[in-house]
Amino acid sequence: MEYPKNFMEDLVSLAKRRGFVNQSAEIYGGLQSSWDYGPLGSLLRQNLKREWMRRFVYRRSDIVPIESTLLTKREVLQASGHEAGFTDPLVECKVCHQRFRADHDIPEGRDHKHNLTEARQFNLMFKTTLGAVEDEGSLAYFRPETAQGMFVNFKFVQEAMRMKLPFGIAQIGKAFRNEITLGHFIFRTLEFEQAEIEYFVMPAEADKHFDYWVGEWQNFFADMGIKGDRVRLRPHDKDELAHYAKAATDIEYKFHFGWSELAGVANRTDYDLKQHIEHSGKDLSWFNEEAKEKVTPYVIEPTLGVDRLFMALLVQAYHVSKGNDGRKDGEVTLKLHPRLAPVTAAVFPLVKKEGLPDLAHEIVAKLRESEIGFVQYDESGSIGRRYRRQDEIGTPYCITVDFESKDDDSVTVRHRDSLKQERVKIQELVNYLQELLKTY
Ligand code: ATP
Repeated sequence: MEYPKNFMEDLVSLAKRRGFVNQSAEIYGGLQSSWDYGPLGSLLRQNLKREWMRRFVYRRSDIVPIESTLLTKREVLQASGHEAGFTDPLVECKVCHQRFRADHDIPEGRDHKHNLTEARQFNLMFKTTLGAVEDEGSLAYFRPETAQGMFVNFKFVQEAMRMKLPFGIAQIGKAFRNEITLGHFIFRTLEFEQAEIEYFVMPAEADKHFDYWVGEWQNFFADMGIKGDRVRLRPHDKDELAHYAKAATDIEYKFHFGWSELAGVANRTDYDLKQHIEHSGKDLSWFNEEAKEKVTPYVIEPTLGVDRLFMALLVQAYHVSKGNDGRKDGEVTLKLHPRLAPVTAAVFPLVKKEGLPDLAHEIVAKLRESEIGFVQYDESGSIGRRYRRQDEIGTPYCITVDFESKDDDSVTVRHRDSLKQERVKIQELVNYLQELLKTY
């Protein structure tokens, strides 16, 4: 599906205006390629992360979560190979001093043809120093991936939870990369969030688990709404594999700037555990009781960028009416998955009198108590206007309290996508919404 003209400008403007995303330190001119998530952005991300945790942790017996530090001991990243090798080839224009990745397309200079330096390897990790003395010994890094926290805690987690192969460790958390090529809104940022599983398996079974996880990842994306002709799987060619990987497949999304990686699954073999065994001198193997032998597991790593998935969700959900679907030409609806939508339900009194606001507030309180999600109350403007306000942020259910509500103890529930309106007893409302949210 092609993108209409100004698609991205319109989407970014909505994201800003409605409180999804704001540039970091915007009132000071902005911090480059760094974004803050506003109230609706934060709610959407929390919902997304909850769905992920539900699916990959709470509903399974073989995966457990951890939260490891963002500050990372230098030895960890020396062992993993990041200190020596986590680099991109960098070139700089001698005229304007702009920097580019030598392996990406280089845009034309505005008023000159770039005069580029030779490429040099640029390490993407952010350094910092610990303690009061800034010397070599106090050097530490902000983690460039969440994965290493899972590897160095492998034994700790396996023993504490008495896990048996195959099992996984899951983590959602921030990672930092001093990227050279920036831009495209929140697609490539300096600080971003990963949701990642390190799944430890018997080496002989690694290929089978790899295929399984490509399928699971794809299913998760599809269930969240990322499906159709803007999504594809792309297996890596042998020559583009990372030094530690035996196989990798990306999930790509077709943004307005082209096919780009949202997520991936890699077979990292036993590379990381072996490196940490060698550098720390600690035993990070697993003892197979049945076969009475020690195994250094292989690792299958499904990973995704929360920010990139967030961006794809907005792009996929953004819908402009052509005037033939019960809405007016040009009206915007965010058709987000109802469990992801930042506001789950909005409650309106038809008018600001005759006790309707009181009844509406009572319903809001009941819905909040039931924890179905974030609930908004809105009494300003015409009903049509209030619907449009909620459509634009993707609220799946709008509930109107009208003159009959007091007599028939009922309200009208209006569905975002079908525009269907149903009369529902106030007493049954929580149950009614909970059932609807379950069916997705
Ligand atoms: P790219 O090729 O786009 O730089 P990558 O292959 O280096 O990405 P991984 O190291 O596999 O990325 O990281 C796992 C996931 O983290 C990616 O699939 C992506 O969704 C996300 N990610 C990586 N770098 C960034 C970034 N700078 N900003 C936002 N998300 C990122």
